[in-house]
Amino acid sequence: MPGGWLPLVLLAACGFGASAQPAPTRGQDPSVEITFLDVGQGDAVVIRSPEGRTAMVDAGRLSPLRFLQQMRVDSIDLLVATHPHADHIGGLDDVLTARPVRFFMDNGRPHTTETYARLMATLERLEEVTYLQATPRTIVLGSVSLEVLPLPTGELDHNDRSVGLVLRYGDFTAFLSGDSERYELGYWTERGRVPDVTLLKAPHHGSVNGFTRPFLENARPEVVVISVGADNEHGHPRPEAMTAYETWADRVLRTDLHGSVTVLGYRDGRWEVVTTRGDDSVGARGEADVDVAEGAPAERDAAKGAGLSLTVVPDAPGNDHHRLNGEYAIVYNESATDVALGGWRLCDLRSRCFRFPPDARVVAGRQVRVFTGYGMSDGVSFFMNNERAVWNNDGDEASLYDELGALVLRYVY
Ligand SMILES: [Zn+2]
Repeated sequence: MPGGWLPLVLLAACGFGASAQPAPTRGQDPSVEITFLDVGQGDAVVIRSPEGRTAMVDAGRLSPLRFLQQMRVDSIDLLVATHPHADHIGGLDDVLTARPVRFFMDNGRPHTTETYARLMATLERLEEVTYLQATPRTIVLGSVSLEVLPLPTGELDHNDRSVGLVLRYGDFTAFLSGDSERYELGYWTERGRVPDVTLLKAPHHGSVNGFTRPFLENARPEVVVISVGADNEHGHPRPEAMTAYETWADRVLRTDLHGSVTVLGYRDGRWEVVTTRGDDSVGARGEADVDVAEGAPAERDAAKGAGLSLTVVPDAPGNDHHRLNGEYAIVYNESATDVALGGWRLCDLRSRCFRFPPDARVVAGRQVRVFTGYGMSDGVSFFMNNERAVWNNDGDEASLYDELGALVLRYVY
């Protein structure tokens, strides 16, 4: 890890009184509570430590005060603007005006908008708010720490200078980075600044430029939350992003479908999800734009061997020929080591085959999916680029051959 980056800001040592409300604990154990507010297209995240220290990262486009009221957030120790776009800073003004805020942090890069000018004017007026620039440092919120990642320099779009935060509470780790895109994600990945995380806030609202394969290989999130507005004009979250997150994570939640999403993180790395809309148990799957069918075959049906399992979801919703990515094969790695798939072939009964690219692999404990239709591979989703359905709904065979042509697995249904 690069050295010389760790000036420590101890909020607890800066005279915070007992004014903050403790986070409501739903179980017996203390937890950090991270809530993604249902603010439409934008980001607004409230973090509460077990001791009641509170941070807020972005505030959506409009006022988030009704949420803060419901959550009884009476004061904020650290308020962060990841970058000065209106869907992140629009609501900050109201927060600063209505709640005592101790520290305000941004990336130091001004913007030309009225929203930004109004925010700066408010900050100037509020002398009691201490300004922090987002330089590499660790901020301590009770027993929770927030590592501020280094920002790339140069002529970059605002998104690629989003403030990046790694939250740690015991073994529970979360990664928040506003609207960072491939450049900034690559900058952190190359410098070893992306740890194995428990929770990932999908960068840039589940945009197609908000993830990379190396980034996800490092982050390996167990739960992903996408902060996104219903029917937004950008088409977020994009099917490619949904596929990638669903492949990597055990649960993918969206504020447009689940309302406000709270992730409770425990010291031993366990986590729990509470949503304001819908049944928590349906949070993980469904509604994926890539037409992932519900009800994938139970694992017992899969063909197993060599530490891998193979299944096919042959029946896309509706007409298979029109929704080619609604049918797909899943190669799941049950072993503890990654398996290289370069040059391997996946074939149906009529020897229509897909050959994995040379660098393909399936990470230990994870899966890759091979979709029938057209798409760009990201390393976890592969596409046969077929114009017709491949897998017969009423019975077929999927055979997986290694690079030497030896049969590894055959799934018959
Ligand atoms: Zn945004």
